[in-house]
Amino acid sequence: MEQLVEVGKNEKPVSSRLISANQRFMQINPKITPIYQTSVFKFEDLNELELYFGEPGSRYLYSRNGNPNSDELAEAVTRLEKGAGAVATGSGMAAIFAALMTYCAAGDHVLCAADIYGGSSSLLDQELSRLGITVSYVPFDELTENLAAHVQPRTRLLLCETISNPLLRVADLRAAAEAAHALGLKLVVDNTFATPVLTHPFEYGADLVMHSVTKYLAGHSDVTAGVVVARTPEDAARLKQIGTLFGLTLSPMESWLAVRGLKTLRLRVEAHCRNAEAVAELLARHPAVGEVFYPGLNSHPQHLLAANQGGALFGGMVSFRLADDTTEAVSRFMRASQRFPFAPSLAGVDSSLSYPAGTSHRALTEEQRQKLGITAGLVRLSVGIELTTELLADLAQALDAN
Ligand SMILES: *Cc1c(COP(=O)(O)O)cnc(C)c1O
Repeated sequence: MEQLVEVGKNEKPVSSRLISANQRFMQINPKITPIYQTSVFKFEDLNELELYFGEPGSRYLYSRNGNPNSDELAEAVTRLEKGAGAVATGSGMAAIFAALMTYCAAGDHVLCAADIYGGSSSLLDQELSRLGITVSYVPFDELTENLAAHVQPRTRLLLCETISNPLLRVADLRAAAEAAHALGLKLVVDNTFATPVLTHPFEYGADLVMHSVTKYLAGHSDVTAGVVVARTPEDAARLKQIGTLFGLTLSPMESWLAVRGLKTLRLRVEAHCRNAEAVAELLARHPAVGEVFYPGLNSHPQHLLAANQGGALFGGMVSFRLADDTTEAVSRFMRASQRFPFAPSLAGVDSSLSYPAGTSHRALTEEQRQKLGITAGLVRLSVGIELTTELLADLAQALDAN
């Protein structure tokens, strides 16, 4: 062990030896970005501090305001979504909050697609309502046709999902953007289920695009993160300030993991889609299944739109209703399946299943759930990238047992 206490006459003191080691490490040229696990950054002198403020992006000050790892994630998703800038957030919920805060203040009103992630509607109903931001829910069929009927004097925006949760309805983004803009509203799109591999909402006129990075972008069920991308530099700057001042920004370690996942996004999503198509076809043929929801099936009401908007890819999520539309039948199916563990999230490389009525949409009333078609026997599969034959064999035996 190195002797740290007794310093010989000709040796440098401990502190300066550590500094020279630090400088030596600075000259290492890593191929990928290291994790900058630091909460704060050093400045040489006051001139450098002025450079930080004078040349935005040239230096770092404090990790809540900006960190090389979260910037790398934000810039990578900005490129994928073809936007102007982004903020990486501590979760998808933080991303929705940041997106809504970009356009809304007390007294404002939001239009939200009735088919929406349960957390998004709970945020609006239970928390933003306390801050004086109100919401109306727009039935799927009225998102493009009859939006004006829902508008109030202080309506600011329309929030919808490219592919909805859990029934996988596909929003016509071009028509939604036209309808929203004609009424002076911004369009905020949750692109979590589609990913930029399928759909680029900015191309259809969206103003903000957000993701739960927790899902496909990171893709390995080991990160909780979010991101919001803006179409304009002005909105990107607003997002950055909102992220910093509300303290929504993402940590270096989580950012690094998300960036690593992102590198295989295209390969993973293509594999998810191939498997999901095979799964949907098997489900559609099985007598234990009452109804299948997958945009890739010809029977899906928005199949053509989904094909156009998704570049002939239809995503990795498949929902179905058991013919025996009961909780008992769902539990039987869960116990019988070996490859689809009940884990209420989605989009990991390993398959899983979720139960919308009991998890993501639990906060809704029974009446709201019935209206959306979220019944007792509805199961949502997140189809992974395993061998197709193994997934099909498992599903067939689990359904045979029903
Ligand atoms: C999971 C999810 C969210 C919330 O993201 P978190 O990372 O869990 O906070 C938002 N929208 C959709 C569509 C989701 O699936």
